[in-house]
Amino acid sequence: MVKITIDNQQIEARAGQSLLDAALEHGIDIPHLCHHKDLIPSGSCRMCVVEIDGMPNPVHSCGTTVQDGMVVHTKTDHVENLRRHVMDLFISDHPLDCVVCDKNGSCDLQKYAYQYNISESSFPVELSRAKYIDDNPFYVRDYQYCIMCGKCVRVCDEVVGAGAIHFSERGFETVISTAFDVPLAESSCVFCGNCVQICPTNALQPVSRLGKGRDFEFEHKKTICGYCGVGCTVEFATKGDKIIYAHGAQNDPTTVNGEFLCVKGRFGWDFVDKPGRLTEPLMRKDLAYELGITAEPWQLPAESVLEKETDPNWFVPVSWDTAIDVTATKLAEVIQKYGGDAVHGQTSARCTNEENYLFQKFMRAGVGTNNVDHCARL
Ligand code: SF4
Ligand code: SF4
Ligand code: SF4
Repeated sequence: MVKITIDNQQIEARAGQSLLDAALEHGIDIPHLCHHKDLIPSGSCRMCVVEIDGMPNPVHSCGTTVQDGMVVHTKTDHVENLRRHVMDLFISDHPLDCVVCDKNGSCDLQKYAYQYNISESSFPVELSRAKYIDDNPFYVRDYQYCIMCGKCVRVCDEVVGAGAIHFSERGFETVISTAFDVPLAESSCVFCGNCVQICPTNALQPVSRLGKGRDFEFEHKKTICGYCGVGCTVEFATKGDKIIYAHGAQNDPTTVNGEFLCVKGRFGWDFVDKPGRLTEPLMRKDLAYELGITAEPWQLPAESVLEKETDPNWFVPVSWDTAIDVTATKLAEVIQKYGGDAVHGQTSARCTNEENYLFQKFMRAGVGTNNVDHCARL
């Protein structure tokens, strides 16, 4: 550990840690737009400049490693003026649409424009990027709001490993794009949406969120993703009884996934209020009639069961107790008549590891067969 002083407050930081991370960990807020704790610092936004005793010029704190005895000043007139100047430049190339912007209230650029009291730029305003791309069902890219922080590029490269997007063109024309500007579906994008979550402005937004409100209108509810046994923490932004979008929980040390998600957790929740969703056990009508659950006789049609197995007209709803009783009785009958190897058990990637362990134990020790498999192998 090394001891440093920031704004007259002495703190202990880990050797090798960046000055910005050390400050943020101790609740000392240094403005920043392109920094994220899980990404390699790029120093591109220059908002995190600080002055350090003994250094002739301000330095960017995200790219400066803590040194024992360092004395740092984060709020001098000089660095505050530098930040104001940087914000002035950002705003000169940004549509100030805050009143109609989905990101209003949760936008880092807006936060610092407010903090530095910049309502308009002192430079001539010219928008370098006016590219709106709606080429996939998951998220839209509206690059007029992009501030070139590069967080989307770095998360895609360093965390996801997809390398689907990068800076292209040069100078004022620079824009984020896929290779050769192909649609995202033709790139190596896996639609995890981590770039969307990490974007500090309105440049990247989930389709499900567009026009549905601002973050201060939503409730944020944490839960565990039900898609696989990893058990990622996912946070849903909800309005009334509707999910608006999903994202990874931020600043929660208890999560197994940090704040990032895969495509299923982030975008695969729309089944929740689909009318065709199964919410209770269903029993095929011929069996239900045989057991006296329905008075309506019914016969399995001659056409392929596989084609029609989800036809709702073939089933009647039953209680969980009935479904479990009938399943157990029928299973026992088959085992008694033909032996355990007449049974095959198929479990699910959506169960937890513990549930899958119990299932194979049940099949081997209870049913008496090794015929057990898992949908992930299908
Ligand atoms: S991205 Fe941020 S600063 Fe830009 S219009 Fe939207 S809320 Fe305002
Ligand atoms: S959705 Fe994921 S894979 Fe696609 S560009 Fe964004 S971070 Fe990369
Ligand atoms: S799209 Fe968002 S995250 Fe990517 S460079 Fe632009 S502002 Fe930064």
